[in-house]
Amino acid sequence: MKRFMTCIECPQGCRLEIETDGARMISAAGEKCERGPAYAKQEIEAPMRTLTTSVLTRGLELKMLAVRSSKPIPKGKLLEAMDAVKRITVTVPVRAGDIVVSDLLGLGADLVACRTLTRL
Ligand code: SF4
Repeated sequence: MKRFMTCIECPQGCRLEIETDGARMISAAGEKCERGPAYAKQEIEAPMRTLTTSVLTRGLELKMLAVRSSKPIPKGKLLEAMDAVKRITVTVPVRAGDIVVSDLLGLGADLVACRTLTRL
């Protein structure tokens, strides 16, 4: 099965022609460096995404706090992660980069604050 994708590892944006058996990459063409096939293989066989969202706060200067995962997590776990994030309420001041939840869902990524929030 032939498939096309754009490598997003650098601004060159190479158009990759990928041959797959449906679940696994068999070959890649069109890349200008070795990162292209590596990106395509990851994207086809085990796609990962950085989770970016916000959580509720109570008693802080804003009602919501922007958060993100400290590293990409499996794309297939994003909905489960969002369900977990919906149950979080931050009630103490945080600084940008503070860990709000460590090892979210046991995926090895922390949920970190994207900004500093102080009390009301
Ligand atoms: S294949 Fe290499 S040169 Fe092309 S977009 Fe990906 S990283 Fe950039």
